[in-house]
Amino acid sequence: MRLSQMLFRTLREDPADAEVRSHALMARAGFLHKLAAGIYVYGPMLWRVLRRIEAIVREEHDRAGCQEMLMPALQPAELWRESGRYERYVTDGILFHFQDRKGTEMCLGPTHEEVVTDFVRQFVQSHKQLPVILYQIQTKFRDEIRPRFGLMRGREFIMKDAYSFDASEEGMRASYERMREVYRAIFRRCGLRFTAVEADSGAIGGSGSEEFMVDADTGEDAIAVCRETGYAANVEKAVSRIEPPPPPPEERPMHKEPTPGARSCEDLERLFPDLPRQRMVKTVLYRAVFPDREQVVAVLCRGDRELNEVKLLNHLGALHLELADEKTVRAATGAEPGFAGPIGLDGEVLLLADRSVEGVQGFLCGGNETDTHYLDVWFGRDLEMPPVHDFGLVQEGDPSEDGRGRITITRGIEVGHIFQLGTKYSEAMQAIFADENQKNRPIWMGCYGIGVSRVAAAAIEQNHDEAGMIWPLPIAPWDVLVVQMKAGQEAQDRLAAQIVEGLEAAGVEVLWDDRPKVSPGIKFKDADLIGIPLRIVVGREAEAGRVEWKPRDGALGGAPGSLAAGEAVQRVIELVRAARSGQPAGEPAAAG
Ligand code: ATP
Ligand code: MG
Repeated sequence: MRLSQMLFRTLREDPADAEVRSHALMARAGFLHKLAAGIYVYGPMLWRVLRRIEAIVREEHDRAGCQEMLMPALQPAELWRESGRYERYVTDGILFHFQDRKGTEMCLGPTHEEVVTDFVRQFVQSHKQLPVILYQIQTKFRDEIRPRFGLMRGREFIMKDAYSFDASEEGMRASYERMREVYRAIFRRCGLRFTAVEADSGAIGGSGSEEFMVDADTGEDAIAVCRETGYAANVEKAVSRIEPPPPPPEERPMHKEPTPGARSCEDLERLFPDLPRQRMVKTVLYRAVFPDREQVVAVLCRGDRELNEVKLLNHLGALHLELADEKTVRAATGAEPGFAGPIGLDGEVLLLADRSVEGVQGFLCGGNETDTHYLDVWFGRDLEMPPVHDFGLVQEGDPSEDGRGRITITRGIEVGHIFQLGTKYSEAMQAIFADENQKNRPIWMGCYGIGVSRVAAAAIEQNHDEAGMIWPLPIAPWDVLVVQMKAGQEAQDRLAAQIVEGLEAAGVEVLWDDRPKVSPGIKFKDADLIGIPLRIVVGREAEAGRVEWKPRDGALGGAPGSLAAGEAVQRVIELVRAARSGQPAGEPAAAG
């Protein structure tokens, strides 16, 4: 492809609304164009990247015996009522839903468990038709609260979703294992460094799930890792041990103290310098939404720990959970926010405790009166211990659950998520098969998602520098960029054409910067920005049949320098072959 014939333009400045590097760099290089919040036009260069990611995804699924199909994005809401998910998705606000001209409620698919289960229940009658794994690559719609970060969190985005159907629980596990290997192979072949982590199953549900995280400091997800034991889990799901509280002090009667303006543990530490945080008990108020009611929930937590809202939501089985607003706090405590406590709360409030408060005695807590706290409070004496569960957020430095190591927190970008669904959907939607004894049983399901468009953004979050993007070779828009310093100069024209021809004949995809009247300086700047990993510069030495080898990233292409044209072509062919075979030459092996 000749660059002179492409719709191509670069911007020197980051767009004002770009919050992450991948978004800024892709927008500057014309890879994408924002149409509205979370909705993007994928330009020709980005589309090539996405097609390459899709090709790897397809090859690995097909190799594992999965069958590709395509389901509609437009779906009747009725199906979502049948599975029981309609309310949670509507309450969450994630579902785009509306009425058609006849008044039938419709929605745009945020995921396809319902549609695929409906398809399979029409099709499958007997155990002889199982197992089967179906997949599609298709556009998904989610009305995200914060559609930021470009392709990372779109409201319209491309997902590969696969669904497995088995006759037994062991069968489901075997399909899940198979897909796990498919996922590892895909992300390895994309040239990404990644970590597979235990995950919360969220609104999709089911019995167990893992996420695939691209390692990147800019990732939205926090991951708890224990290097000693190999444990890795999304912080939403992670467990750890917590250091026990200090031994109880001498027993003294509970008393109220004025604490003007002291709303946080830091404020209280200043007021009571001798009181360690482990002897402060925070009371955090939430509003939980259920199908038929709302509930204010107060959760106790030790002063040096934080709560994990995902664990709390799962325990409550609520549709939605959020911090209580000021009005709710006032009604529940009779005080300004910052002074909530377990003693004397409104009777309607559900009181729970995180396990971090176990063993804490002689503590400080809110007084349910503005500018007031209780001191020397004892569980069992001044109040009953509320029901205790693990609602805690793991923290850097915590001992691991088995005590054999310590937790560190790293960051990542979730590019894939695999779930064991069990019979959640098949029971709700009556997807039934007859077993060997002609007995009717619900099908065992799994589901498996990859954010194809998010993979492109994650690749850039992981691989970029000040000057621009650095694409991993397997998913780069082209394998190699041939920069011709002076278009129209005869020797350069001839040599560049010969190189491009040689490469293309070997199946290498080449972008040829043959733009006339563009200075070499601008060409190099643009080359850095669009980040094609291998580069050959045809310039001063063209007469002698020599080129400059100038890889975007030395880790892949080796040191720059002058080469005979034929040698440069040979090098590119070898590197591209290695990348396509799944063993990128010269790249560190992917983790995970
Ligand atoms: P997140 O926690 O990031 O909101 P999710 O857990 O809701 O994602 P899944 O339902 O597991 O996402 O979807 C499967 C995959 O689709 C995710 O692993 C992610 O790669 C991708 N994905 C999800 N939401 C978006 C989005 N808004 N934009 C782009 N990709 C997305
Ligand atoms: Mg997920």
